[in-house]
Amino acid sequence: MGLDVDWAVRWLTLSAQAMAEHREELIELDRPIGDSDHGENMDRGFKAVMLKIAETPPETAGAALKLTAMTLMSKVGGAAGPLYGTAFLRAATALGEAADIDAATLASAFQAARDGIVARGKAESGDKTMVDAWTPAVDAAAAAAGDSDVHKVLAAAAEAAEAGAVSTDPMLARKGRASYLGERSIGHRDPGAVSSALILRAAVGAAE
Ligand code: ADP
Ligand code: MG
Ligand code: MG
Repeated sequence: MGLDVDWAVRWLTLSAQAMAEHREELIELDRPIGDSDHGENMDRGFKAVMLKIAETPPETAGAALKLTAMTLMSKVGGAAGPLYGTAFLRAATALGEAADIDAATLASAFQAARDGIVARGKAESGDKTMVDAWTPAVDAAAAAAGDSDVHKVLAAAAEAAEAGAVSTDPMLARKGRASYLGERSIGHRDPGAVSSALILRAAVGAAE
């Protein structure tokens, strides 16, 4: 099965489900190194995305991601809203009008998303942010794209993002609220890296 607008809508639907299911976990991750709202922010944002999709069903995957970007920017707030908004907007632009997304286009859309997060938030790898999930995901997706199998690209990205989220545990935060804690940020997992891994895992489920 190729990746089309139905895949994109399933991706967003499964992302919304994941944000609802993991709402408390994301809140608890944001408690020691933030302000305990990441789960609430993401759940609210993706619930709004589902309403928008029901109101104005998108005709292409790119349109679905653009609508997601606009909605997350206006509903999520905080640091994550503009970061995810930029990520989805850049990914939408990379997909363009494509009706059937191939492996190379998919990998470049993930790269565009990551580059958007970096352009907006100026975090580098190792700063203990969502970039630490996205950068390994993008690298794994690019490596997997050679086989021209979208499922492999999706699976590689999700797996790398999950490992990337775990890798934030020993990091000292240098961006966002967690950076105010300095050394005390060490030993906690970054909530945005975890939500990013959940969203990339949802993309796999949507293609099954
Ligand atoms: P806020 O910190 O405003 O309450 P959230 O709790 O929703 O916003 O999101 C926090 C997440 O945002 C962090 O876990 C981190 O992954 C991400 N984040 C914060 N600042 C940056 C940044 N400059 N670059 C990349 N990601 C960031
Ligand atoms: Mg927060
Ligand atoms: Mg906040």
